[in-house]
Amino acid sequence: MIRCKFRKTLALCSAIAVTVGCSSTSESPVTDAQHSVAVSKAAPKNIIMVVSDGMGPAYTTAYRNYVDDATTAEIETVVFDDILVGNASTYPAPVSGYVTDSAAAATALATGVKSYNGAIGVDVDKQPLQSVMHWAKAKGMRTGLAVTSQIVHATPASYIAHNESRKNYNAIADDFYDVRVNGEFVADVMLGGGTSYFEREDRDVLAQFIDAGYAYADSYNRLASIPTGSNVIGLFAPVALPKVLDDKRKNRLEYLTQHAIKHLENDNGFFLLVEASQVDWAGHANDIGSAMAEMHDLAQTLNYLRTYVEENPDTLVILTADHSTGGLTIGANGDYLWFPEYLRNLKASAETMAKALGEQEDVGQYMAQTLGFELNSEELAHFAKVASLDEEARYGAIKAFLDSKTNTGWTSSGHTGVDVEVFAFGAGKQAFTGQIDNTDIAKKIFRFIDNRPHNGDSVDINVELNDGSAGSNDCDFKDDWRCQ
Ligand SMILES: [Zn+2]
Repeated sequence: MIRCKFRKTLALCSAIAVTVGCSSTSESPVTDAQHSVAVSKAAPKNIIMVVSDGMGPAYTTAYRNYVDDATTAEIETVVFDDILVGNASTYPAPVSGYVTDSAAAATALATGVKSYNGAIGVDVDKQPLQSVMHWAKAKGMRTGLAVTSQIVHATPASYIAHNESRKNYNAIADDFYDVRVNGEFVADVMLGGGTSYFEREDRDVLAQFIDAGYAYADSYNRLASIPTGSNVIGLFAPVALPKVLDDKRKNRLEYLTQHAIKHLENDNGFFLLVEASQVDWAGHANDIGSAMAEMHDLAQTLNYLRTYVEENPDTLVILTADHSTGGLTIGANGDYLWFPEYLRNLKASAETMAKALGEQEDVGQYMAQTLGFELNSEELAHFAKVASLDEEARYGAIKAFLDSKTNTGWTSSGHTGVDVEVFAFGAGKQAFTGQIDNTDIAKKIFRFIDNRPHNGDSVDINVELNDGSAGSNDCDFKDDWRCQ
């Protein structure tokens, strides 16, 4: 592949319309005076952005019911209740209508600019956008991401890469190495899945990172042995991490988040992106068991982060979703009922059960044991029939069975356009209260990065987007934005 050099210096005021003090700023990220005061007085040193992909409001309510202690009269509050501050609209650029995909939403959350569905860090004209992670790096912060998808998936990709399509995973992996800020890599710590995109025949991006001094971990245990403060690329699966119900670590996102922070902490602060990537995938699959299990991994992560912020009150944590997925409903079929107790003892995901079901001698015993509840004779007979179907049909049948037991509803295998909740705690959380837009989140983070207490004066404000190849073959960036 021939990659010509592209180098674009983005002048602070022209390209980043959201930073403080630019005379050319066309829109203020914080329009209300009270917010401005809150921002300047309480700018955090560390910023942790958590995206729960696909987590519409029904998911947080369902989660509260899922973990409810049924022996008490009340439904106990959960971590989401304690940290809720507002609500965000999620619609993409007009060209894509009212319902966003994860790429446009992530681009909005990362850059403060709405784009078309499919866009990774580029605007509607496919021009590269500056993300809060780029800006954090430009300002001397350490930067990282910890996700449960492949790290080149839409949400993390939009904080680092620039591509006209989220599907170009290999080119996005190249960008992780090639896009530079003041000559430096955008992310110091990258944890998630995706070896198949980094260790390729045409280019071994992983080897390049290792040669550049990054520690590499290919297992959770190996990650734990890397010395604190390292630059790390940790890829724990060829594509995404296993579903949490099938993973060795039931707190995998919390674990990755803890380790990311361990390597990012420093006197000048850090920016970390955390993504509960697979809430969305459970929603697409209409798989309520996995949806709740992925939510539990996220809740454990948030509990850890609350402890972290108690000990490090100069840290801000923001959580939102990019959109809702599946049109999940708590109750369905005209019945005012929901029975989450059938989801609490699942030993494997529906997908894994569907695979294993074809090989069982005692189908009934396997299903009862793996579902974690007793099956009546009718249900046993049902699964005896299901076992003879092909794997995809078995998968559908197990999900339908759980929907029926719990009375869960779904209206779509895709996304829906409802607003999503916004949660925040720690320094500066007030900036996110009330009804906002997803782009406001990035705009406020840009401001926080500029107003940090440990912000040095010597930072070069010009940010380069550099493909890393030396010298020759300059191409016109405006004519061909990827210059390939
Ligand atoms: Zn999705």
